[in-house]
Amino acid sequence: MKAVLFRMHGGPDKLSYEDLPTPTIGVEDVLVRVKACALNHLDIWVREGNPAYPMPLPHVSGSDVAGIVEHVGAEVEGIEVGQRVFVSPGISCWRCEACLAGRDNFCRAYGLLGAMTHGGYAEYVKVPFRNVLPIPGNLTFEQAAAFPLVSVTASHMLFALAGLQHGETVLIMGAGSGVGTMAVQMAKLAGARVMTTVGSDDKIPKAVILGADAVINHTKEKVADRVKLLTEGRGVDVVIEHIGPEVWDSSVTSLAKGGRLITCGATTGGDVKLNLRYVFSRQLTIKGSYMGTRAELVKVAELMGQGRLIPVIDRTFPLQQARAAQELMISRRFFGKIVLAV
Ligand SMILES: [Zn+2]
Repeated sequence: MKAVLFRMHGGPDKLSYEDLPTPTIGVEDVLVRVKACALNHLDIWVREGNPAYPMPLPHVSGSDVAGIVEHVGAEVEGIEVGQRVFVSPGISCWRCEACLAGRDNFCRAYGLLGAMTHGGYAEYVKVPFRNVLPIPGNLTFEQAAAFPLVSVTASHMLFALAGLQHGETVLIMGAGSGVGTMAVQMAKLAGARVMTTVGSDDKIPKAVILGADAVINHTKEKVADRVKLLTEGRGVDVVIEHIGPEVWDSSVTSLAKGGRLITCGATTGGDVKLNLRYVFSRQLTIKGSYMGTRAELVKVAELMGQGRLIPVIDRTFPLQQARAAQELMISRRFFGKIVLAV
């Protein structure tokens, strides 16, 4: 099969389009013929080399896959050859206490497709059968690949961790990111007042279409100051962020008393400063989030099938142009998901 792989860690130039043996499946695996694979920032970390993601090389990235079932293992139940499917990116054991409690993202063996195993930058991918789900509604393969990782992340942050209630105000950092496009829609659907940020004016109408009530261009004004004006000095109940140091101060100071800050990433670095007096006197909560549960993904897929949430795609590239696709992601000049068509 054809695949995009890297033999050593480094820049986008390390990606090459080559022949690889088609994976052989185990009794509980499914072989999926990949039709679309969405990019995530994780793909960049994995390519650059990150101690959190050790892996044998060469490696094939890609955590968000949609395609057609090509083969099923002897002990696979409920999945038919020829079915249109998408893949849940979180791989867990389904035997431990966390998995049995439905908290599979707390499994000690938890890993991600395309990081722990070979992913979807390829014509075929091997996945455990419990990770294979039917494509909801009339979604295209590209749309079905564009929502799983970012939507399960956004749902877990907003509802499981922040406990967002209707009528509350939420600030979502980075409307144009994958998580941002999902979080804006979900928070709006849940009845919250939604504020969000962008880095260029052309993204403002796009954020408004997704449901944002207020969009702040962070290159032109101070986010926390604007938030204070919009909330009559009160601040927001919830901040959703994945950017790290670049937005940390505005995230913390935008919170109302009792506010909750949920973070799921660190695209601008890992180290931040925090004034503990500010945290306890304002009774703030700060929580870290990593992916979400399989149950949350099933719920989100239902909403996608009903058209109440929509996958947002910026651009589609052919698989061979994975390097150009990753370079676009690094440039930040996109709104929504970047997808490889296979
Ligand atoms: Zn487990």
